[in-house]
Amino acid sequence: EHVVNRIAAGEIIQRPSNALKELIENALDAGATSIRITVKDGGLKLLQIQDNGSGIRKDDLPILCERFTTSKIKAFEDLSSLGTYGFRGEALASISHVAHLSVTTKTRDETCAWKAAYSDGVMIPVKSGSDDPAPIPCAGNDGTVLAVEDLFYNTPQRLKALRSAADEYARILQVVIAYSIHNAGVAMSCKKASAGSSNATADVSTSLGASAIDNIGVTYSEQVKRELVEVSAESQEPSVTLRAWCSGTNYQGKKGRYLFFINNRFVDCSPLKRALEAFYSNFLAKGTHPFVYLSLDLDPTKVDPNVHPTKKEVGFEDETEIVEFVCEKLAERLASQGE
Ligand code: ADP
Ligand code: MG
Repeated sequence: EHVVNRIAAGEIIQRPSNALKELIENALDAGATSIRITVKDGGLKLLQIQDNGSGIRKDDLPILCERFTTSKIKAFEDLSSLGTYGFRGEALASISHVAHLSVTTKTRDETCAWKAAYSDGVMIPVKSGSDDPAPIPCAGNDGTVLAVEDLFYNTPQRLKALRSAADEYARILQVVIAYSIHNAGVAMSCKKASAGSSNATADVSTSLGASAIDNIGVTYSEQVKRELVEVSAESQEPSVTLRAWCSGTNYQGKKGRYLFFINNRFVDCSPLKRALEAFYSNFLAKGTHPFVYLSLDLDPTKVDPNVHPTKKEVGFEDETEIVEFVCEKLAERLASQGE
């Protein structure tokens, strides 16, 4: 049974950056305004995320990693109206099947934090040698610290499929950068854990209350920031809210940068990417590429996140119309650039 669960989990969590994305979304769902990430060996040794969100109630800890455990369903009659990212309750369960997972968490009304550890979906003793799986009291701030250690220690075929630690770390930074831009205002940081000193400099660090374009400047460059224009538009049929920061007609990116969020989730969307590539190729100098950060809010009942198990590639209804709408609005905005 564990083997089957492990294989299923390895389909959802294929690499450290997939796991981190789920953890970041959980922290955001918990209302965090500060998210601190620490990474060892490209996330394979350690992926730690500290947030100052709601915390998890002590009573909820025993079932935290059971499949389909979620706090994000009950309040809603209609699942499809759920505004938050995940309501599947599968992320932590999956992670616990392919890594050592521990949680230290404190809600506002607890006087101390509680620490719990998990393996294969169930709570296990925090201390080796103990046979009591109950959470143990400890010091801690309001919010949650989740530590994922030794990812894929029990799924060697997953480990083999990965690239170098450096490559996995680059993917992690990409996820952190994307979420820090999309959730500008939340302070986010990511750094490598360094032996000894706790004050290693962060590779990404954004500030509380910053704006999306500020964070593009901080995480890419001030030069990129200066070259972008803001696009925002809405339509009723099909229902779309578009917000974007895109490079203009004179931009000379060496490689294309596409950050897509659909209903606040960082995704791939091949048809949209192809359309934007074609759109920009009409006027960008040969061999140069655009920068596009683009957020679409769509009717959630029309989005299909299950095109791929990791939910990275999404599909949606009225795709042709929506992609055309985006290109049209971009064209209008770029035509008026500099006015
Ligand atoms: P989902 O996000 O789909 O509900 P997850 O497996 O990602 O499922 O998380 C399970 C539950 O654990 C969440 O519904 C939430 O109640 C709780 N949880 C997870 N991470 C956090 C966090 N950082 N802060 C507060 N609660 C959390
Ligand atoms: Mg989740």
